[in-house]
Amino acid sequence: MNKFLNIIEELKNKKVAVIGHIRPDGDCIGSQVAFVRGLKALGIDAIALNQSPVPKFLLCFVEDILFKHENFSDYKDYAAITVDCSDLLRIGTDLEILFPNIKLNIDHHISNNNYAENNIVDAKASATCEIIANLFIENKIPIDSITAQALYLGIATDTGQFCYSTTNAQVLSLCAKLVEFGAKPSEIANKLYEEESLERILLLKEFLGTLQVELMGKLCIGKITQKMFQLTGTSKEDTEGFVDYPRSIKGVEIAALIEERADGSVKGSLRAKQEKVRVDLLAKQFNGGGHVCAAGFSFEETIDQFYPKFIKAAKKHLEDIGL
Ligand code: 5GP
Ligand code: MN
Repeated sequence: MNKFLNIIEELKNKKVAVIGHIRPDGDCIGSQVAFVRGLKALGIDAIALNQSPVPKFLLCFVEDILFKHENFSDYKDYAAITVDCSDLLRIGTDLEILFPNIKLNIDHHISNNNYAENNIVDAKASATCEIIANLFIENKIPIDSITAQALYLGIATDTGQFCYSTTNAQVLSLCAKLVEFGAKPSEIANKLYEEESLERILLLKEFLGTLQVELMGKLCIGKITQKMFQLTGTSKEDTEGFVDYPRSIKGVEIAALIEERADGSVKGSLRAKQEKVRVDLLAKQFNGGGHVCAAGFSFEETIDQFYPKFIKAAKKHLEDIGL
């Protein structure tokens, strides 16, 4: 029996908590929905736990799966599986305290530090959902249309709608299989990109107004402040995808979204076009991590304190790689 089936076998007499990361994205929610549904199809009782609530724009993909974002102590005896989490800090303090021992870590972040008893980590995978879809297919774990839809969601969002360099023949043929299992690409795209709220577009307008180009056009930074959220009636979950705008500018190597959190500290999102730019390593300088072209961090300083430090670090980072 292979490693994955052995782990599944060990879970058969247990209850399982499938845990995702704070500020969950499409790959995180898709992975949680798919994995819980896969376990349930095998007769294993499972639930999805996430310190953050499911963002509004992803609620339609949750279907019959119970997501809990509080009262975690009710589940303290559950076996814990993490999906799309590069390190244990990513699950948030409350869950980290309750689940110091993780049975299985399934992830695709280059910065993953193999923190679990079993680690299925593939930094070349386009999405955690790609890893899970392959595990399910190889091990004949049932994929119905809802599970297929969740898995497709994760791959579609983490590949930037099949635009990033992680999109290869295997990814596309896997997605073709998911479509055969019942995933509907146009329905997913419509739900994700054609149902924007006016408030979010007004927040985008504010964000675009802050864009500043530094380092001879190689770095572009935009800001989001608490005041902007108040002005537009939005919240932190409404910033998804904004950092793609500064990245899209010709000549920009690093795009940054610097968001002011409610306590005045900073949450950063970094994007690059070229893998050699390694924004995961730039994020690491501010206690974060992620992927070579998409990374993030949280930093205990105000935007004004952080901004000049960040430009200096980005300048050195780009110089070191010859850009
Ligand atoms: P985003 O900019 O969309 O928040 O995150 C981009 C990528 O970086 C995601 O894959 C996310 O998991 C990762 N990431 C974001 N924030 C952090 C962080 O604070 N620490 C680490 N290790 N990874 C992060
Ligand atoms: Mn992911």
